[in-house]
Amino acid sequence: MRSLTHLNARSVGEACALLDEYGRRARLNAGGTDLLSVLKRGFLPDRPEAIVNLKTIPGLAYVAADEDSLRIGALTTLVTLAKSEVVNEEFKVLAEAARSVGTPQIRNAATIGGNLCQDVRCWYYRYPHKLGGAMDCLRKGHGGCLAIKGDNRYHCIMNGKGCFAVCPSDTAVALAALDARIKLAAPDGERSIRVADFFGPLRNALDANEMVTEIEIPRTARPSTQTFLKYTTRKPVDFAIASVASVVWKEGERCIDARIALGAVSPGPVRATTAEALLLGRRVDEESAVEAAEEALAGARPLSMNEYKVHVARVLVKRALLEEAD
Ligand SMILES: Cc1cc2nc3c(=O)[nH]c(=O)nc-3n(C[C@H](O)[C@H](O)[C@H](O)COP(=O)(O)OP(=O)(O)OC[C@H]3O[C@@H](n4cnc5c(N)ncnc54)[C@H](O)[C@@H]3O)c2cc1C
Ligand code: SF4
Repeated sequence: MRSLTHLNARSVGEACALLDEYGRRARLNAGGTDLLSVLKRGFLPDRPEAIVNLKTIPGLAYVAADEDSLRIGALTTLVTLAKSEVVNEEFKVLAEAARSVGTPQIRNAATIGGNLCQDVRCWYYRYPHKLGGAMDCLRKGHGGCLAIKGDNRYHCIMNGKGCFAVCPSDTAVALAALDARIKLAAPDGERSIRVADFFGPLRNALDANEMVTEIEIPRTARPSTQTFLKYTTRKPVDFAIASVASVVWKEGERCIDARIALGAVSPGPVRATTAEALLLGRRVDEESAVEAAEEALAGARPLSMNEYKVHVARVLVKRALLEEAD
């Protein structure tokens, strides 16, 4: 058995300093619902030497609204988001996405920061070491992608490059549709990045000494209709085959602004900007919803076994738009 150092961070500064000291040999632990299973399965090529516990940092779990934005602390649990009054009233799509994650036990422990930073679910990547040896692949730094010629039914249908594992986070999809930004802290300061820009094919935008501290969602004066839809193979608890978050603003019967984000189709949530533009000035009805759905998936390049995901995502876009149509 190898030893693992457990360090309780008392502040964001201390957590970042520990990351600076250990580099990629340390892992942050928030709710632990993903990290602990990653460690137990032993599939990572470099087992971490230190775990930095974030739960000991006071004041990082909050949902705070001011005139311009809603701010969510990185340690806020998914159950808090699912139940929050302001989130349900103004950012319903996020409450629905949080409710769709896992089981009540997972939502009680899982944090929004951990949900955004969780590791991918590719079955080659996660193959447990104890079942005949972990598999090497590009994401682990050795060899190519096993999914390209292998069983890729759950993988990317767009934007895959080298690695074709999809972003497993449901909240990321809702946050992309809400045009949210993620605040990152490092030993030498802070920066902020749009949710849609946070994810990449091989890793997210975090540097080795950075952590997520906050998510900021802009508030809009005009009310919108919002929907999150997720298609899964197993109904009660499962990751998305595809998901969609939509936010639509109307004046009378006409759409004056729209945001559509696709989930589980790409390394990160994808904003369907041309589909959004197509809705402007039009009624959201069967005809425009079908056209927007076609447009949203126009750039899809499925792999050998996942063309069905294009169809599933298309249907979800149409249903999301029609959910609260006139
Ligand atoms: C049975 C099961 C079903 C699930 N179903 C779904 C689902 O349907 N949809 C979905 O979206 N997810 C699902 N998940 C994944 C689950 O949502 C994540 O495990 C959880 O959200 C991670 O949050 P956490 O706080 O427990 O993160 P941890 O497990 O503590 O951390 C996860 C990763 O994020 C990093 N991290 C954590 N916090 C920060 C931070 N503040 N800054 C930088 N890095 C950080 C950690 O280092 C680690 O690499 C499921 C998990 C299980 C076990
Ligand atoms: S999709 Fe990514 S994680 Fe999966 S085998 Fe390919 S490189 Fe590895």
